Amino acid sequence: MLAPQTAPQPLKLGAGPLVRTAGKAADAILGSRGCLFTFHRVASSAAWETLPNREFYIDLTFLDQLLSYLARTGWHVVTIEEALERAARGRAGDRYVNFSVDDCYRDTFEEIVPLFRRHNVPVTLFVTTGIPDGTMPMWCAGLEDTLLARDHVVVDGATIEVATSEAKRAAYAKIAAAWDGPDAPAHYDRFCRDNGIDAAAVHRKHAMSWEMLDAVCKDPIVEIGSHTVSHARISSLPPQDAFAELHGSRERLRRRLGVAARHFAFPYGRSGDCSQRDFDLAQQAGYASAATTRKGVVRTGQDAFRLPRNTLNGAHRNLTMIELHLTGATGAAARVLGRV
Ligand SMILES: [Zn+2]
Repeated sequence: MLAPQTAPQPLKLGAGPLVRTAGKAADAILGSRGCLFTFHRVASSAAWETLPNREFYIDLTFLDQLLSYLARTGWHVVTIEEALERAARGRAGDRYVNFSVDDCYRDTFEEIVPLFRRHNVPVTLFVTTGIPDGTMPMWCAGLEDTLLARDHVVVDGATIEVATSEAKRAAYAKIAAAWDGPDAPAHYDRFCRDNGIDAAAVHRKHAMSWEMLDAVCKDPIVEIGSHTVSHARISSLPPQDAFAELHGSRERLRRRLGVAARHFAFPYGRSGDCSQRDFDLAQQAGYASAATTRKGVVRTGQDAFRLPRNTLNGAHRNLTMIELHLTGATGAAARVLGRV
């Protein structure tokens, strides 16, 4: 998704009573309702303004206010494990939310887990094990840092000017779209050489380490899940490589943290990124569930291997969109528009 070109709206809490009423009416017929949210990173409002890849971050203050709002309005924040139990029970009127953080950047340790701890509610960390292992090039972070710090960067042999925030955002969107895929590490390698970037230092600055994971994984509010070894698009891999990503990350978490990860989230997670073969492989790799990024809500009888999740990004700074996710309206709209 391209970065929004307009300034963010002021934080607003308090959303449409009509939307809430519609959701409750559906619950009377359909029983329990669960809404799974996912995001990657958080930023302060001030930092968010200047970030070249700001869609990737949600506003930390907004997340704080959202957790308070959910507590006030009777939503239970739960782990994926408990979400599945509640979906199986299907008790009428039961409403629950899960938040999962994908990949696991350093701010997961420094900002996100402490925020959920303050609210005393669970958070799920879907760890890409190549991040703490240092084997997954963090090209998104390296590209963003470089654009933020420089007025000119060299990309594929050409120098481009990125003096303004708008130019930095436009450059990020264009370069990331060109790099995305299996060749991204090679593009990033060259970019680091051409621009004098220390990729190892970028990694240390942005990665969540095994020591950080050690420190949080025994906290009862933290649920550890897996998000592959290398953040590969699973559907693009032959079966044995796809299985190695699924099983290998689970094994790595077990060996390094002593955690039996029961839940998996597909990188990217839309319909082209994971399909029935991959849902079956997730089951064979020993998981109890697999999550996508297809929008929607969890109802009684939900297939545990194609869990819908609603992505929160930089554009989410007021509750109206959140309410639409909570009722399932965004999922319904996405299905009508074929955006799944
Ligand atoms: Zn991811």
